[in-house]
Amino acid sequence: MSHNSILIINAGSSSIKFQLFIEDSGSLTSTYSGLIEGINTAKTNFKAKDSAGQVLKTSSYENENKNHQDMLAELMEWFDTLPDLNIVAAGHRVVHGGMRFSGPALVNDEVIKYLTDISPMAPNHNPHNVLPMKILKDMYPSLPQVACFDTAFHRTAPAVNQEYALPKALTEKGLIRYGMHGLSYEFISSQLKEYLPFNQARGKVVVAHLGNGASMCALEGGLSTATTMGFTPLDGLTMSTRTGQIDPGLILYLIREEGLSVDEVEELIAHKSGLLGISGVTSDMRPLQTSHNPDCIKAVDMFVLGVAQQFGRLVATMGGIDALIFTGGIGENSVILRRLICEKLAWFGIDMNFDSNEAGARYLSTSESKIPVLRLETNEELMIAGHTLNLLNANKPD
Ligand code: ADP
Repeated sequence: MSHNSILIINAGSSSIKFQLFIEDSGSLTSTYSGLIEGINTAKTNFKAKDSAGQVLKTSSYENENKNHQDMLAELMEWFDTLPDLNIVAAGHRVVHGGMRFSGPALVNDEVIKYLTDISPMAPNHNPHNVLPMKILKDMYPSLPQVACFDTAFHRTAPAVNQEYALPKALTEKGLIRYGMHGLSYEFISSQLKEYLPFNQARGKVVVAHLGNGASMCALEGGLSTATTMGFTPLDGLTMSTRTGQIDPGLILYLIREEGLSVDEVEELIAHKSGLLGISGVTSDMRPLQTSHNPDCIKAVDMFVLGVAQQFGRLVATMGGIDALIFTGGIGENSVILRRLICEKLAWFGIDMNFDSNEAGARYLSTSESKIPVLRLETNEELMIAGHTLNLLNANKPD
């Protein structure tokens, strides 16, 4: 029997992450996943696994300069060799949906043009997110494709939380706080009712999505009302290689007095700063969190301080707090970082259960804690697959 399946693509400048979900009576099961890395570089690797983690395919190319088109073609050829698969749609992760998109969209030429036009708002992401849409459209013109945006979930925030103190004309042009990681926050929001009483799940919740890219979101009634990233993913928390919040005057100084070009400033604040810049050693939290090097300790301290400060900002914005959720690579896996952050928030009445934290349990706080603290695993791919299936069904001819 052939299985309807949905292909999820998360493409970057040199990588394509993919996941294939099989659909059965509306429920989605992740069946195959993988990573293609080193695209447009001297060494390109392709690896695909099944849901049990068993490697099913690998390939490697040296000095062949494989591009996105080559590797997507190889991926689709591999899917063709698998028995009983019928790919009925592709869902794409897109970082920036601009002013226009507050939800997922069916891909067509006009949508591709809009996303290309707004690429300057996410120059390191949007062009690479859009490219596979064009490639798949050329390969399979009738395959429905859906774009799912990291910005869309935050469009429910009140204007005062979305706008900067800029002249109105610029705000109306779309120079606002968009925020990112929306697919992760939407997934976590959809899970809260499973783990918290209704009044807390739909109350005032702060979600800390802590990964290489890190941000936090204030949820009220399950919807985003404020977030820490801004017009671009550079704002907010100290990240693996991004500064996070920084005085805009410092950027002007770098250009005027240090003679840096705009591209050099971008390279500095997006790729050479954050945990990597402070420590001078690595952007990876795993070695940093146990290092005795004073600069590594400082990098961890600044990360923790940022989370605590932004927590305060989001709680003040909402005027209260009912739960704190950790997610993302660091939030889900780092016993040490969760402990350091909760210790910093102890003044607030957060009382961590250190044994539960050590065990990586779902509930991390004691019964004495003023608010519950939870660890939830995010699943952005499942969120995209769900959106793709919904749009597909909504647009089915009668
Ligand atoms: P991305 O933003 O690229 O999706 P992830 O959410 O995968 O990132 O998170 C990657 C980060 O999570 C890295 O800094 C990595 O060091 C960190 N991380 C993963 N596992 C652990 C762990 N056990 N302890 C501490 N940090 C971890």
